[in-house]
Amino acid sequence: MIVKPKIRGFICTTAHPDGCRKIVKEQVDYVKKSGKVNGPKKVLVIGASMGYGLASRISAAYGCGAATIGVIFDKQGSETKPGSAGWYNTAAFEQYAHADGLYAKTVNGDAFSSQVKDEVIALIKKDFGKVDMVVYSLAAPRRTTSDGTVYSSVLKTTGGDFTNKTIDVKTGAVSEVTITPATEQEIFATVKVMGGEDWKEWIGALKAADAIEDGAVTVAYSYIGPELTHPIYKDGSIGRAKAHLAATAKEITKSISGVTAYVSVNKALVTQSSSAIPIVPLYISILYKVMKEMNLHEGCIEQMYRLFAEKLYKDGVKTDSEGLIRLDDWEMRDDVQAKVTEAWNKINESNLGELADIDGYNKDFIQIFGFEADDVDYDAETDTAVGIESLE
Ligand code: NAD
Repeated sequence: MIVKPKIRGFICTTAHPDGCRKIVKEQVDYVKKSGKVNGPKKVLVIGASMGYGLASRISAAYGCGAATIGVIFDKQGSETKPGSAGWYNTAAFEQYAHADGLYAKTVNGDAFSSQVKDEVIALIKKDFGKVDMVVYSLAAPRRTTSDGTVYSSVLKTTGGDFTNKTIDVKTGAVSEVTITPATEQEIFATVKVMGGEDWKEWIGALKAADAIEDGAVTVAYSYIGPELTHPIYKDGSIGRAKAHLAATAKEITKSISGVTAYVSVNKALVTQSSSAIPIVPLYISILYKVMKEMNLHEGCIEQMYRLFAEKLYKDGVKTDSEGLIRLDDWEMRDDVQAKVTEAWNKINESNLGELADIDGYNKDFIQIFGFEADDVDYDAETDTAVGIESLE
């Protein structure tokens, strides 16, 4: 097929296999050149096909030489219909890892389900006995629990209405948006999906099956951000879920012996999930502009490599006073935030190009789906039915 992007709102419904392969290769090369890390050797990554999870898998494999099992929830393409970007990313990652002599296997299915947990545990027991690290990087719109109930997460405030600037990144239109408060039921559902309950179920199931090492580390990801995003993020429905995730880290450490759980607070970046949050894309575009000018910009792979190389596996784990790992340390620097706030207060459609990195935002967005990668011929026919080696 010749594959072109088809953007519908916050999602691109097509993905390009060669572009995804190229972007995965760039991440692999980044870690290869950044050097070895004395880290974990048998790593389970839940939510391994995109964004922070994929970058964690690449950092574990190429930074630490780890064997990795990835849990993904993706669609294979056919000769006439492209698969999902996460499918192509995983196919490419496995190809590179296997060629480089690294163990890499993938389980494709709903990570919230007990069937997938059982399948992963059976694979761990069969292939390497126990894991010494578990990365929990799911970003999902909904979760079906074992009793069949479907919970959907919402991106709303928890107080009153909140009005602020937002951008349509495709047209460059800056307008005001009002976010309405979530109901108690919606908050409950958001915590069910994006809080820590499923993370704890995973670690509990691994422990019960004797499939996790004594001394293992598990990490899940969160975001805090500056005050201007607090009503929609930190103090919003998603923030309630993230507070639950942080409390779950403490609970896992206390109740599951031999396992230490951390929450890493990461930088705001363009991923499929973050592009769906109102207000945040305009903030990210300004942040990119400021951080690139200050030579402080990082993408998912730079963040995740730094997590392994600096925060988790070098001279002890580095946390703040609340026990959180702060990979948002550069984003939250006073000088960075002072510049972001100044731009935020001034920004409108006429000075957008000057104050925000809209092109950088759009490029990162389209690259999630494998488009606009360097040296890929997008007018050429490509094989959209690529398989993932370990699933063949
Ligand atoms: P992403 O959309 O890029 O990746 C999410 C991954 O989860 C994908 O691989 C997806 O396929 C997988 N997934 C979703 N539902 C699944 C299911 N039921 N079973 C198996 N896999 C499933 O998102 P991301 O931005 O990398 O988010 C990962 C984590 O990082 C989230 O907890 C998010 O809140 C956090 N985080 C993101 C940002 C940001 O700016 N993007 C910042 C800080 C923290």
